[in-house]
This record gives sequence, structure tokens and C-alpha cells, in this order.
Amino acid sequence: MIPFNKPPFTGNEEKYVLESMKSSKISGDGEFTKRCHQWFEEKLGCRKTLLTTSCTHALEMAAILLDIQEGDEVIMPSYTFVSTANAFVLRGAKIVFVDIRPDTMNIDETLIEAAITPKTKAIVPVHYAGVGCEMDTIMEIAKRHNLFVVEDAAQGMMSSYKDKALGTIGHFGAYSFHETKNYTSAGEGGLLIINDDRFSQRAEIIREKGTNRSLFFRGMVDKYSWVDVGSSYLMNDMSAAYLWGNLEKADEINENRLATWQKYYDGLKELEDKCLIELPTIPDGCIQNAHMFYLKVKDLETRTKLLEHLKQNEILAVFHYIPLHSAPAGLKFGRFEGEDIYTTIESERLIRLPLYFGLQTKDQDKIIQAVKRFFE
Ligand SMILES: *Cc1c(COP(=O)(O)O)cnc(C)c1O
Repeated sequence: MIPFNKPPFTGNEEKYVLESMKSSKISGDGEFTKRCHQWFEEKLGCRKTLLTTSCTHALEMAAILLDIQEGDEVIMPSYTFVSTANAFVLRGAKIVFVDIRPDTMNIDETLIEAAITPKTKAIVPVHYAGVGCEMDTIMEIAKRHNLFVVEDAAQGMMSSYKDKALGTIGHFGAYSFHETKNYTSAGEGGLLIINDDRFSQRAEIIREKGTNRSLFFRGMVDKYSWVDVGSSYLMNDMSAAYLWGNLEKADEINENRLATWQKYYDGLKELEDKCLIELPTIPDGCIQNAHMFYLKVKDLETRTKLLEHLKQNEILAVFHYIPLHSAPAGLKFGRFEGEDIYTTIESERLIRLPLYFGLQTKDQDKIIQAVKRFFE
């Protein structure tokens, strides 16, 4: 069976994890965490990044930093992972879902303004498949209405929108290093990107259980104490050590994924020309990271049959997400603003093909041929 995913392992991860284990700093903010922070801050051209236990937790930190309160409203697409919404629901917010664009599966920026009410606090664009949302428009709307923007860039590391790294455009950005993402840490992991300096110090405090321990270690206060709410959001240093192995080879991983993506695209283009499938769109100004290769078939029934066909050919393809507004918790915690023209229909016809660092050429060929045979 060709698996759907394999976490990237480039060679040095084992060595670094052992190195970390043998150091006396295996909890948070050890040597590898520092190296990763520096790498991100240079690579992304941003002022402050903090490794976290997951992207879910990075989003939760953003919600705390924004002082999201009971009754506040947060605008986001319904076609996303549950954590995008949960992070804000945990603080008592009501989620306002708006429709997506069928070309990128990203939030339709032209529908955001109509969803704004006096209770709206934030907009949370999700860069689906690592392809940027229309951030210029979103930032302009946010500015005009005095709203915050939290980019769910869980899938977006190494992607950019108009030369800006995804996650560095809004007030906050969040990455995921879950095993299903392009870059991984051992276990679970994430990154909070803080693009607004006003939040940097408080972010360190919230991540350190509400204490000013980071300031104490830097010698900026002479004792550390409980100064705010907080939790334990630090990535352990062994996880960061694994991530460091991935970061060192970030370009290699990226190029390898992009090559596979392009091969799928070229190989399946004739099916699109015959109107049998639709292939992903990368808008001008967006550089993607090949987080995902998806195609869209006619309808749900065709998708079910294609998935079965691939399984019989020993290929594990998958689909996601059940739109949040139609899920039990979505009905309870959110509402859909406007009409669901694309969210449900488009989500039902999308299939993701296996895509991971090191996916062999012969397996890529086998997958392309199997998809083609299905449509013969
Ligand atoms: C993976 C993912 C998350 C959650 O990331 P974790 O690191 O697993 O918490 C959140 N949002 C989106 C869009 C994701 O794809």
C-alpha cells in the first residue's frame, strides 16, 4: 500500500534528538528551541516566534493575547480543521463562518465585510493547502474595521503571498509541525508568529504558565512570579531537535514536494482538459509549498468510487474536512453568514493524493496511471 503520508526524516534528526536527550535541558526553551527560533526569525523576516506544543495551542495563545471574551465574534471559513474554531470557542467566542472561493478553497475575501457586526473582534484566514488567502484585501478590511487578523498558516510554512511569508502578514500567524505537515517536530508541535510588537512580551508570559520566567532568565527582572493567565505551551527541546533536522533541509524538502506536485499536475492535466477533473489553482503572487495535491471530481458519488478504486490499487488517498458549520459543535458554537454556495459542495468532491518527502517516482507514476484508468 502506498501510504498517504510519511513524516519527513532527512538523516540528522536522530542525532539531534539524542544530543538533546543527553543535554540537561530537555524541557522547553533549550538549545534546539533557540536555534529554531533564530532560523524562523531570519527566514521569515519577523521579529518574534515562539515554538509551541502544537498549532492548536499557538492559535489558543493568539485568542488569549487578543483578550477574546464571551460573546465576541470571530470570522473564518467553515472549510477548515476544528482547531481554527476551537481556539476561539474556548474563550467564549461565537464563530461566524463565511463561504470559500472554489478556486483555492480559501475564505472568500469579498464576503467578509458583510459578516462584520459590532461584536466582531478578529478574522482568521486559513491558507488552505499552503496557498495564500487574498491578504491585501483582508488586511485592508481589518484595518478599516479595527479588527485583528490571525493567520492559520498550519499548512503554510515556506509559502508566500506577494513576497511575504504566510503567517507574517496578520497580527499573528500559526504553523503546525504535526506529522502530516511538511515539516515536523517529534511528537506534536507548532509555532506562534507575533508580528505586532505590542504582544511579544505577554506572549512569552502566557506560554510560560503566566510567569515572567523568560524575562528573569534574560536578567530583565530579579525574580520571577505569577503575572498573568497562562498555560504550558512550550515545545520540549527533543521535539525541537527533530524539527531542527527538518529545518536544516527545508529547501530540499520543499523542492522534493514541489517536484512531486508538478508531476501530478502535468500527469493529470489531460483529464482536466477533458473536463473530468479540476486541478488546484495557485493565484498570481502566491508561491506555494506543495503541502497538498488535491483534485476535484464531479460529485460525492464519484469521489467515493475513486477512493475505492485507488484503495484496490493499493493507494491510500483521503478527503477532509466535514464543513464545521454542519458539524454538531459548529451548530452549537457558530453560525454561517450568507449562503453556503461552495463550502459543502466543493468539500464533497475533493480528494487528496499521497504526497510526502521522498515519495518515489515509480509510486507517483502508479498513482497517476491509477487515476487515469478510473476515468477510462
Ligand atoms: C493541522 C492543522 C491545524 C492543527 O495543527 P496541530 O499542530 O495538529 O494542532 C490547525 N489548522 C489547520 C488548517 C491545520 O491543517
